[in-house]
Order: sequence, then C-alpha cells, then structure tokens
Amino acid sequence: MTTETTTAASAVEPTPDGHLPCAACGVAVAVEDAGERIQVGQSSRYRVSPLDAEPSERGKPYRVTEPGDMTRCPSCADRLALARLLVEAHPGAVRRIGSPAVATERVVAALDGLAALGAPLPDAAKLTGAKLGRLVNRLTLHGGIVQWASHRRGQPSPAAEVTTAPWAHVTDNADLRDDYAGYLSDAIGPRPTPPPDGGPRGCLMCGVAQQTGTWEQVNVRASTLGMKQQGDPRVSGYLCTGCGTAVQDVGSVGPTALSRALLAHLGVAHNPLNPIQVDGVEMWFATGRPPTRTRWAHVALDADTRAVLGIE
Ligand SMILES: [Zn+2]
Ligand SMILES: [Zn+2]
Repeated sequence: MTTETTTAASAVEPTPDGHLPCAACGVAVAVEDAGERIQVGQSSRYRVSPLDAEPSERGKPYRVTEPGDMTRCPSCADRLALARLLVEAHPGAVRRIGSPAVATERVVAALDGLAALGAPLPDAAKLTGAKLGRLVNRLTLHGGIVQWASHRRGQPSPAAEVTTAPWAHVTDNADLRDDYAGYLSDAIGPRPTPPPDGGPRGCLMCGVAQQTGTWEQVNVRASTLGMKQQGDPRVSGYLCTGCGTAVQDVGSVGPTALSRALLAHLGVAHNPLNPIQVDGVEMWFATGRPPTRTRWAHVALDADTRAVLGIE
C-alpha cells in the first residue's frame, strides 16, 4: 500500500513554467511545441454553497473548478490525427457511434487506451468499419478514464500537474487489459473445438473433428448408427450443429436425419412436398475411419446421384 502511494506521488509533479500538460498521457509539453489547446475542467461541475456563505449566496451553485489549458504531446497528437482519419474513412460506423465530433472523441479515447497499455495501434489501411465499432465498444470507456484530462477533471487547477513519464499516473490498468483481451477475441471470433473428451473424436454422423458451434450429446443404439453388433450396445457421442439441427427437425438419429443433414450440407433445399432421401450412406462412426477436417469427407456420391440432386 505504501509503495503504491509513493509510486503514484512520484509519478506526478507540478507543471513546469512555460509548459502545458498533455491531456492524454500527462507529460509536460513546452508551450511553443503545443498544438491545439484543450480546456479541461470547464464542465458543469457545481456544488451547493457552504452554510457560512452570505445569505444572498446561500444555496446558489458555484463553479468548483477553473478551466485549465492542456494540449496533446506530439505522439498523442498523432493518435488524435489517426482518430480523425478513421472517423472520416468510416461514415457508416460513425453513424452508429454518434456525430463525427462524438465519434472522434470516442475513437481517440479507445486509441489512448491502447497507448496506455502499450498495445499496437490499428493500421488505418486495414481497419474495417466493423472493427472500428468493436474497438470503440470495447476500449472507449476505460480509455477515456485513463486520459490525464479525466484524471484531473474536478481538481481546483486541472493543469497544475503533469506526469513524470507518459501514462505514469495509470497505476491500475486491469480493466483496460480486460477490454483489450475482449477486443482481440472479437477479432479472432469463436475458435473451433473438438467434441468433449470421453467420446468418439468426430461428429457421429458427418465425422467433422472440430467446429465453432455447440456439440450436442447423444446416446443411441449401435444399430441406429447402422452397425450390426452383438447385443446392440449403446454408443455415447456428439453431433455437430449441422447434424444436430437435422436430428432435431426429423426427431431422431437415423437414415432420414442423415440424409437431411447431408443434403443441407450439399446446399440442396428441403422440400416437404417432395422430400428426397439419399440412401446407402454410412454414418461416419460406422465407417471406423479417423475424424476429418471437413464434414461428410467419408461420403463420395456417384455421378448419377449428383445429377439427380442437381449438384456439381
Ligand atoms: Zn501525450
Ligand atoms: Zn456432423
């Protein structure tokens, strides 16, 4: 606890003469190098006057903070320029965020969050509107909170102190790190997983080894899977979402569900008035083959069947 206090205190010092704080990372910027001025503390922060105030003044709100000038240091100014570029490049995404001015504020807060973490900034040429939206959704809130201007807002003289190093005031970035992890996982999307342990290593019907959906557990007789075994033992395993949907539509695991799942996979629409059934196709589990990267890899339809189904 003592260490933290010491660290926080030494991370901040009075603003040197002739300097302004960077509104993002907090470092001192010489006035002659300062670009745009940012007024901090000019928000509507008021409080009720103390009881010992003059009767005429009593109960009247008065301003707590004096506005203070801040600016952006060169590297933080680059991020503001990048935010403006991104807002201009993605009008669709900006409409979902708000006006261009609001969007710029939110995008720069998200980029400041990345900078505070030391994470790489997005490549403007590669960032899509959808990714920009995800970046803003994930990082704007805590990115805005770690900005030096937010940190100092409400202080009697917001511009009176600077940080001794960029982002030195950020002693706890756990929230930002969570946001960033979320942003990265959004970009990757759900990862394919194999069926849960303890069963066959592929979908019982189509044989696929990995999928991004939920595996559906089934427990059926070996004969249901087309296997002739003494005593007809039960087989416990999993179905991929494609095969699971077909089983749900049909009502049970069996040749009808198999045909439905295979045809759906081949892009042949199911017509209830004129149902087609593909016969003679084995369930993957009955083939005894290893699981496969793609669905139905164990099935080779002959030319006649393909012609009837109207597929290449
Ligand atoms: Zn800065
Ligand atoms: Zn399957």
